[in-house]
This record gives sequence, structure tokens and C-alpha cells, in this order.
Amino acid sequence: MRCPRPFSRALATTFVASALVLVGAGPTAAEPSDNRVGGANGVDQADFQMPFPCGQVWGASTHGNHPAVDWNGVGPAAGSMDQGLPVLAGLGGTVTAAGDQAGYGTRVVVDHGDGWASVYGHLSAITVEEGQTVSAVTQVGNVGNTGTSGGPHLHWEQRYLGQRLPVLWAAGVPIDPTYGSPGPTYTSANCPPRTFGVSLVPAPGRPRQGPALAKG
Ligand SMILES: [Zn+2]
Repeated sequence: MRCPRPFSRALATTFVASALVLVGAGPTAAEPSDNRVGGANGVDQADFQMPFPCGQVWGASTHGNHPAVDWNGVGPAAGSMDQGLPVLAGLGGTVTAAGDQAGYGTRVVVDHGDGWASVYGHLSAITVEEGQTVSAVTQVGNVGNTGTSGGPHLHWEQRYLGQRLPVLWAAGVPIDPTYGSPGPTYTSANCPPRTFGVSLVPAPGRPRQGPALAKG
């Protein structure tokens, strides 16, 4: 079981209260088939891409009282073989936190503007600094097993106005994770623009790119 209980009971209770607030927030929250929330400047949930390099395939799982997607490697990256693989921002913004937090372990928080933010947890290494501007393809760290984690994976949250959303989006569609690892697979469409590429940094003690991920 991966990332079985990443949060304390107190945090879980906080989420339940937050979910109730969202349910009561109005028509937008009452439409689970399309929970994207627009922002004044045009940023919305459909703008997120998967937090992995273009073309990589990852499995999406989640857990109870856990408004997040736990991304697990598949194929050659299955099990603990996803340890150290690069994690990308998935959407442009500014790094607002980079360091350790209870439960999350080593984590990065990116503010995307318009009320949107995302969190990347259980990292083995961080490759950005607070205040740094990132694009969707900027590497923010490496997959790890820090904090309350049952094995290497990426804990990914999307937040709107500080609330963790129960459904996460990537490439314009909602992600539909299962409660078991690795979950259904999704292929990253987080492809760099032609004007610049992606420089991937291995985690400390793991000086290699990691296995090539399975296609499909
Ligand atoms: Zn998680």
C-alpha cells in the first residue's frame, strides 16, 4: 500500500470540513463532472498538465480522506523503481514553499495565480528555491519516500483558494484514480515548447535518469 495515511487525523478532519464548505459553495462545487473553477485572469484547473516529462506513463491512485493523486511508476518504473525520477511543475507559477512539512516530508508548493496552487510531496530532493518562477516543464524535485509514505511515489495536490480539491485535472480532463496502486495509467502531455527544453536533475545518490517508462 502506498501513501496509506499521509495526513494526521487533525488534517483529515480539516479536509472534511473543507469539503463541506466546497459542497456548500454553490453551483460550481455541485457539478462533480466538471469541477474546474475559473479564475479572474483565466487560470483554471484544465490548465494543469501531469507533473512528469512529456510522454511518460504513470499510474494514478488515491486514498480515503486524501484529496490528492498518488502517482506511481509503471512498467520498468514500478515498485520502488520510480524513486529519484524527475517531478515537473505541471503549470507555471512561483514557488512559495520548498522544504519539509509534517506528513508531506520534503515538499514543494507552487502558486499558479488566480487562487490556484499545487503541492508535490514525499520528494527525495528539491531542485527549485522559494520565490523562483517556474513553467509547466520546470523540474521542481525528484520522486521520493519522505514523510508519511509507504513507498516511493509522488503525492500531488491541486488547491483552489487554499482548499485541496477532491478531483485533480491534467491535460484538460479530470483524473480518475483508484484506491489501489498503481491505478489507471495516464500519459503525460506536459511537452516543452520548441523554444526551450527540459533539464532533468537526478536525485542525490542516484546519478542516473532512471528507467525508461513504459508506453501505453
Ligand atoms: Zn498521497
